[in-house]
Amino acid sequence: MTDQNDLLFERARAVIPGGVNSPVRAFKAVGGTPRFIQRAQGAYFWDANDKRYIDYIGSWGPMILGHGHPAVVEAVQKAVLEGFSYGAPTEREIELAEAILALVPSMEMVRLVSSGTEAAMSALRLARGATGRKTIVKFEGCYHGHADALLVKAGSGLATFGNPTSAGVPPEVVQHTLVLEYNNLQQLEEAFALHGKDIACLMIEAIAGNMNFVRATPEFAKRCRELCTQHGALLIFDEVMTGFRVGLHGAQGVLGITPDLTVLGKVIGGGMPLAAFGGPRAIMEQLAPLGPVYQAGTLSGNPVATACGLATLKEISKPGFYEALAKKTRTLVDGLKAAAAAEGQPFNADSEGGMFGFFLMNELPQNYATVMTTDNAQFNALFHGLLDRGVYIAPALYEAGFVSAAHSEDDIAATIEAARDIFSKR
Ligand SMILES: *Cc1c(COP(=O)(O)O)cnc(C)c1O
Repeated sequence: MTDQNDLLFERARAVIPGGVNSPVRAFKAVGGTPRFIQRAQGAYFWDANDKRYIDYIGSWGPMILGHGHPAVVEAVQKAVLEGFSYGAPTEREIELAEAILALVPSMEMVRLVSSGTEAAMSALRLARGATGRKTIVKFEGCYHGHADALLVKAGSGLATFGNPTSAGVPPEVVQHTLVLEYNNLQQLEEAFALHGKDIACLMIEAIAGNMNFVRATPEFAKRCRELCTQHGALLIFDEVMTGFRVGLHGAQGVLGITPDLTVLGKVIGGGMPLAAFGGPRAIMEQLAPLGPVYQAGTLSGNPVATACGLATLKEISKPGFYEALAKKTRTLVDGLKAAAAAEGQPFNADSEGGMFGFFLMNELPQNYATVMTTDNAQFNALFHGLLDRGVYIAPALYEAGFVSAAHSEDDIAATIEAARDIFSKR
């Protein structure tokens, strides 16, 4: 039988760079042919060969209800009939803004945009505009989208300015970006001691989901807050991944820390292109048309996307939603740990709400460098083993995983069994 994924990949590569519209989809890290998805429902999607997979990427986070939730589908269908986009304001944008603010108390105002990249980039500009400072602090392994100033890796030595991680980003563009090691208190102290008066903002994934799943320690997160306050810098929580995913109030709710600005995306669009950034009124009113910080978007607050987001937020706000989701995710994580232990596989895993990560090592990593010591070949064998058995996890060891409300106990049990089977054949 001809593999339809192979055929599609060949066609795709002729017209789309690498055959994909976002790099990690290409399976470059794990090898093999990316699966071309033809449809999805609940906890599953089907590839071009009509093979079914239990989906643990959920569009990289947004599909917290699973695919095709009836209430969301209905809201989107209704919105579509009313028009796709107007370029003029709508009541639904107010409703979504109100819903977001009700769930994230640190935000008094919010601006809607279309992607997490756009939201993070805009928050950064706002922070610089509001403080009149240039320097930004970020952490190795945290991803904030692909704005030029954020595509940086650590330079050599402590608390130094970074180097671009992408061609096309001139060193001058990242010369104000400090890249520090995640959870390294000493570097954090040093950076603020040296550069404190120039720091516009510190941007962090307080529960990081772009170096697999790594938590900021409570002490580290608290110190980020204190140092920003002390030095007049803005603390920005990038909750594009964690917002409405680790809990109804995001990582800031889990950690009990109030950031100045919050960046949201993924779940707030329920699978449609929608993201947001927000914070206190005095800062947000620095944005155009009220203030001097320019920011705009043709499709911002799109009526179909906002309908999808609103319907999604309504479902996840129902009592008990996160308790059930977190319990299910913990069952998966505990089951994988037990399976690995039974088969003598070095393993550890962690989860919060509907987000999880696992590691082929005994300790939970605290930073990017440790995550990257994972045995690539072992991870890739596990990835392909699961894929063969109809379980789709992220095709790279530095990505987190996602469980949705649609995953059943049987899905979780089947996943654990698939992993056990693979571990037993090592
Ligand atoms: C996904 C992600 C982004 C970028 O969002 P896009 O919608 O892909 O542009 C930014 N920050 C974090 C933490 C993310 O996980």
